[in-house]
Amino acid sequence: MEDFKLIALKCPSCDSGLVVEVNDNVVYCSSCGNGYEIIDDNLVPIEINFAKPIVQGQGELIYKPFWLMNTYVNIISRNSSGGWISNLFGSPNKTEGNVLFYVPAFWMTIDSVKNLGGTFTLRNPVASPQKYNVKMTGFNFTKVDAKKIAEFIFLSIEAEKSDTLKDIKYDMKVQSMQILGVPFYKQPNGKLRDAVLGIEII
Ligand SMILES: [Zn+2]
Repeated sequence: MEDFKLIALKCPSCDSGLVVEVNDNVVYCSSCGNGYEIIDDNLVPIEINFAKPIVQGQGELIYKPFWLMNTYVNIISRNSSGGWISNLFGSPNKTEGNVLFYVPAFWMTIDSVKNLGGTFTLRNPVASPQKYNVKMTGFNFTKVDAKKIAEFIFLSIEAEKSDTLKDIKYDMKVQSMQILGVPFYKQPNGKLRDAVLGIEII
Protein backbone atom coordinates (compact mmCIF):
# COMPACT_ATOMS: atom_id res chain seq x y z
CA MET A 1 0.00 0.00 0.00
CA GLU A 2 1.07 3.53 -0.65
CA ASP A 3 1.44 6.13 2.06
CA PHE A 4 -0.63 9.26 1.97
CA LYS A 5 0.44 12.56 3.38
CA LEU A 6 -2.53 14.11 5.09
CA ILE A 7 -2.38 17.71 4.12
CA ALA A 8 -5.53 19.65 3.40
CA LEU A 9 -5.04 20.78 -0.16
CA LYS A 10 -7.95 22.21 -2.06
CA CYS A 11 -8.16 22.72 -5.79
CA PRO A 12 -7.87 26.46 -6.50
CA SER A 13 -10.27 26.06 -9.46
CA CYS A 14 -13.14 24.01 -8.08
CA ASP A 15 -12.49 23.72 -4.32
CA SER A 16 -12.43 19.90 -4.36
CA GLY A 17 -10.13 18.12 -1.92
CA LEU A 18 -6.89 16.93 -3.49
CA VAL A 19 -5.05 13.71 -2.66
CA VAL A 20 -1.28 14.05 -2.43
CA GLU A 21 1.16 11.19 -1.86
CA VAL A 22 4.40 11.52 0.05
CA ASN A 23 6.97 13.28 -2.18
CA ASP A 24 4.44 14.23 -4.85
CA ASN A 25 5.43 17.50 -6.44
CA VAL A 26 2.48 17.72 -8.81
CA VAL A 27 -1.19 17.22 -8.06
CA TYR A 28 -4.04 16.49 -10.45
CA CYS A 29 -7.65 17.43 -9.68
CA SER A 30 -9.82 14.64 -11.07
CA SER A 31 -12.94 16.77 -10.49
CA CYS A 32 -12.12 19.60 -12.87
CA GLY A 33 -9.05 18.35 -14.77
CA ASN A 34 -6.66 21.08 -13.64
CA GLY A 35 -3.12 20.28 -12.57
CA TYR A 36 -0.72 22.07 -10.26
CA GLU A 37 2.93 21.94 -9.41
CA ILE A 38 3.56 22.26 -5.70
CA ILE A 39 6.29 24.89 -5.41
CA ASP A 40 7.12 26.11 -1.89
CA ASP A 41 3.61 25.15 -0.72
CA ASN A 42 2.01 27.11 -3.57
CA LEU A 43 -0.08 25.51 -6.30
CA VAL A 44 1.22 26.65 -9.69
CA PRO A 45 -0.91 25.62 -12.72
CA ILE A 46 0.53 23.04 -15.12
CA GLU A 47 -1.09 21.38 -18.13
CA ILE A 48 -2.03 17.71 -17.53
CA ASN A 49 -3.52 15.44 -20.18
CA PHE A 50 -3.90 11.70 -20.66
CA ALA A 51 -3.15 9.00 -23.19
CA LYS A 52 -5.88 6.61 -24.27
CA PRO A 53 -5.47 2.89 -23.43
CA ILE A 54 -4.83 1.04 -26.71
CA VAL A 55 -3.53 -2.43 -25.89
CA GLN A 56 -5.47 -5.02 -23.89
CA GLY A 57 -4.13 -6.22 -20.60
CA GLN A 58 -4.91 -7.87 -17.30
CA GLY A 59 -5.57 -6.12 -14.04
CA GLU A 60 -6.80 -2.76 -12.83
CA LEU A 61 -6.14 0.22 -15.08
CA ILE A 62 -4.32 3.05 -13.33
CA TYR A 63 -2.67 6.24 -14.58
CA LYS A 64 0.93 7.20 -13.97
CA PRO A 65 2.57 10.53 -14.85
CA PHE A 66 5.23 11.26 -17.44
CA TRP A 67 6.83 14.61 -18.15
CA LEU A 68 6.24 15.45 -21.78
CA MET A 69 9.23 17.61 -22.67
CA ASN A 70 9.32 19.56 -25.86
CA THR A 71 13.01 20.16 -26.58
CA TYR A 72 15.36 21.31 -29.30
CA VAL A 73 18.41 19.08 -29.49
CA ASN A 74 21.54 19.90 -31.44
CA ILE A 75 24.31 17.32 -31.75
CA ILE A 76 27.38 19.50 -32.09
CA SER A 77 29.87 16.69 -32.58
CA ARG A 78 29.86 12.98 -32.23
CA ASN A 79 32.94 10.82 -32.25
CA SER A 80 32.26 7.20 -33.08
CA SER A 81 33.90 4.27 -34.76
CA GLY A 82 31.49 4.08 -37.67
CA GLY A 83 29.00 6.21 -39.52
CA TRP A 84 25.92 6.97 -37.54
CA ILE A 85 22.24 7.35 -38.04
CA SER A 86 19.99 9.11 -35.62
CA ASN A 87 16.30 8.28 -35.62
CA LEU A 88 15.50 11.12 -33.30
CA PHE A 89 15.13 13.90 -35.84
CA GLY A 90 12.96 12.19 -38.44
CA SER A 91 15.62 12.07 -41.14
CA PRO A 92 18.83 9.97 -40.93
CA ASN A 93 21.25 12.78 -41.77
CA LYS A 94 19.85 15.48 -39.53
CA THR A 95 21.82 16.34 -36.43
CA GLU A 96 19.38 18.74 -34.86
CA GLY A 97 15.68 19.26 -34.40
CA ASN A 98 12.72 19.10 -32.07
CA VAL A 99 12.46 16.04 -29.86
CA LEU A 100 9.50 15.27 -27.64
CA PHE A 101 10.82 13.35 -24.65
CA TYR A 102 8.57 11.04 -22.64
CA VAL A 103 10.17 11.12 -19.21
CA PRO A 104 8.67 8.87 -16.52
CA ALA A 105 7.81 11.05 -13.51
CA PHE A 106 7.26 8.16 -11.12
CA TRP A 107 9.82 5.93 -9.51
CA MET A 108 11.15 2.90 -11.46
CA THR A 109 14.50 1.21 -12.07
CA ILE A 110 17.05 2.87 -14.34
CA ASP A 111 16.63 0.01 -16.84
CA SER A 112 12.91 0.69 -17.02
CA VAL A 113 13.49 4.43 -17.45
CA LYS A 114 15.75 3.60 -20.39
CA ASN A 115 13.35 1.08 -21.92
CA LEU A 116 10.05 2.88 -21.31
CA GLY A 117 11.33 6.44 -21.77
CA GLY A 118 13.47 5.54 -24.78
CA THR A 119 10.77 3.54 -26.58
CA PHE A 120 8.04 6.13 -25.97
CA THR A 121 10.37 8.94 -27.09
CA LEU A 122 11.38 7.14 -30.30
CA ARG A 123 7.82 6.12 -31.17
CA ASN A 124 5.93 9.19 -29.92
CA PRO A 125 2.71 7.16 -29.59
CA VAL A 126 0.40 9.77 -28.08
CA ALA A 127 -0.60 12.19 -30.80
CA SER A 128 -3.47 13.90 -29.05
CA PRO A 129 -3.62 13.61 -25.27
CA GLN A 130 -6.97 14.42 -23.70
CA LYS A 131 -8.64 15.23 -20.38
CA TYR A 132 -9.88 12.33 -18.26
CA ASN A 133 -11.58 12.33 -14.89
CA VAL A 134 -9.23 9.82 -13.31
CA LYS A 135 -7.07 9.77 -10.23
CA MET A 136 -3.34 10.12 -10.70
CA THR A 137 -0.60 10.25 -8.08
CA GLY A 138 3.06 9.28 -7.93
CA PHE A 139 4.74 12.46 -9.10
CA ASN A 140 8.21 11.67 -7.80
CA PHE A 141 10.49 13.50 -10.23
CA THR A 142 10.53 17.28 -10.53
CA LYS A 143 11.08 19.35 -13.66
CA VAL A 144 14.78 19.59 -12.76
CA ASP A 145 15.02 15.80 -12.39
CA ALA A 146 13.15 15.40 -15.69
CA LYS A 147 15.76 17.39 -17.61
CA LYS A 148 18.52 15.10 -16.30
CA ILE A 149 16.48 11.98 -17.08
CA ALA A 150 15.77 13.28 -20.62
CA GLU A 151 19.52 13.64 -21.15
CA PHE A 152 19.99 10.09 -19.89
CA ILE A 153 17.30 8.83 -22.30
CA PHE A 154 18.89 10.79 -25.15
CA LEU A 155 22.35 9.33 -24.46
CA SER A 156 21.01 5.81 -24.06
CA ILE A 157 19.21 6.10 -27.42
CA GLU A 158 22.39 7.35 -29.07
CA ALA A 159 24.56 4.71 -27.38
CA GLU A 160 22.27 1.91 -28.53
CA LYS A 161 23.42 2.48 -32.11
CA SER A 162 25.49 -0.24 -33.77
CA ASP A 163 28.62 1.86 -33.73
CA THR A 164 30.40 2.64 -30.50
CA LEU A 165 29.70 6.01 -29.05
CA LYS A 166 32.95 7.48 -27.80
CA ASP A 167 32.26 11.12 -27.34
CA ILE A 168 29.28 13.32 -27.95
CA LYS A 169 28.75 17.05 -27.61
CA TYR A 170 25.21 18.25 -27.70
CA ASP A 171 22.91 20.98 -26.57
CA MET A 172 19.37 20.40 -25.31
CA LYS A 173 17.02 23.31 -24.88
CA VAL A 174 13.72 22.71 -23.12
CA GLN A 175 10.96 24.66 -24.85
CA SER A 176 7.95 23.57 -22.82
CA MET A 177 6.91 20.92 -20.34
CA GLN A 178 3.61 19.37 -19.44
CA ILE A 179 2.35 16.21 -17.80
CA LEU A 180 1.05 13.17 -19.64
CA GLY A 181 -0.92 10.54 -17.72
CA VAL A 182 -0.17 7.11 -19.18
CA PRO A 183 -2.49 4.16 -18.51
CA PHE A 184 -0.93 1.06 -16.93
CA TYR A 185 -2.31 -2.33 -15.99
CA LYS A 186 -1.63 -3.38 -12.43
CA GLN A 187 -1.10 -7.00 -13.46
CA PRO A 188 -1.77 -10.08 -11.32
CA ASN A 189 2.03 -10.68 -11.16
CA GLY A 190 2.39 -7.33 -9.40
CA LYS A 191 4.19 -5.62 -12.29
CA LEU A 192 2.95 -2.62 -14.20
CA ARG A 193 2.48 -2.87 -17.96
CA ASP A 194 1.58 0.21 -19.98
CA ALA A 195 -1.62 0.19 -22.03
CA VAL A 196 -0.22 2.23 -24.94
CA LEU A 197 2.80 0.22 -26.15
CA GLY A 198 2.50 -2.78 -23.80
CA ILE A 199 5.88 -2.46 -22.09
CA GLU A 200 6.24 -4.12 -18.70
CA ILE A 201 8.16 -2.31 -15.98
CA ILE A 202 10.93 -4.48 -14.57
ZN1 LIG B 1 -10.49 21.09 -9.41
